[in-house]
Amino acid sequence: MKKPKLVVANWKMHLNVHQASLLVNKLDKKVSLHRGVEVVIAPNYLDLQPISLEIDRRKFKLAAQDGYPIDEGSYTGAVSFAQLREMVNYAIIGHSERRRYFSESLELIRDKMAAAIRNDITPILCVGETKEEKQDKETKQVLHDQITTALSDLTSEDIESVVIAYEPVWAIGGHNPAKPKDIEQAVSWIRYQVGELYGKLAADSIRVLYGGSDEPEFVTGIMEVDGVDGLLVGHASLDAQQFADIIQAVYLVSLSDPKG
Ligand code: PEP
Repeated sequence: MKKPKLVVANWKMHLNVHQASLLVNKLDKKVSLHRGVEVVIAPNYLDLQPISLEIDRRKFKLAAQDGYPIDEGSYTGAVSFAQLREMVNYAIIGHSERRRYFSESLELIRDKMAAAIRNDITPILCVGETKEEKQDKETKQVLHDQITTALSDLTSEDIESVVIAYEPVWAIGGHNPAKPKDIEQAVSWIRYQVGELYGKLAADSIRVLYGGSDEPEFVTGIMEVDGVDGLLVGHASLDAQQFADIIQAVYLVSLSDPKG
């Protein structure tokens, strides 16, 4: 059976505990429970605990925005996947902002993927090229390197729970998503890479999301792209009405998906 569509709200370093709670309340009123659509919220570490007590778990699941690859020890300031496992179902790993501002290497991301899986947390691996890499026609090479390194410690059983988000870095935080044709090519290349490593079944069944300027007006077009199973949403997820509209649009597309 086809897995449900997935919509992930990445709240990044926004919202204090009170603001996060208000947003969850607003979302709860605006979002309906849809069987074919899984909605995941990724608040900051501080907001995770109170929100985990407030949310309706049938409607919303939780994700961490990151995690430390070692389970326990003297690592000041870090939070491990082992500590997060009681609270979250998912974790965003390798977001371009972590790669850029926190100098995360391909190898560190590989270790985080393994740590998330080891702790029964579904990793959402973010991959994507920068503007310069796109101009230099390096998108395929970048995706290849990011995917093959990140997955290199995972077995074919592990891969069943992995989610990959294609997030062209140049499209993040703006109002111009990648064109459907470019998304389709990137997603098909991502599946090809997974297929090379784990076979056709894994390539066909892995969930691949798109992220980058996912605003409500673009969502239907993006979701209709062949191979796109959902969205990783940044700024539009901080607005309850916009995020609810996005979920509704994903739901409507899911109804007409022949594989749905
Ligand atoms: C993101 O950073 O993951 C993202 C998709 O951001 P935005 O929707 O703001 O482009």
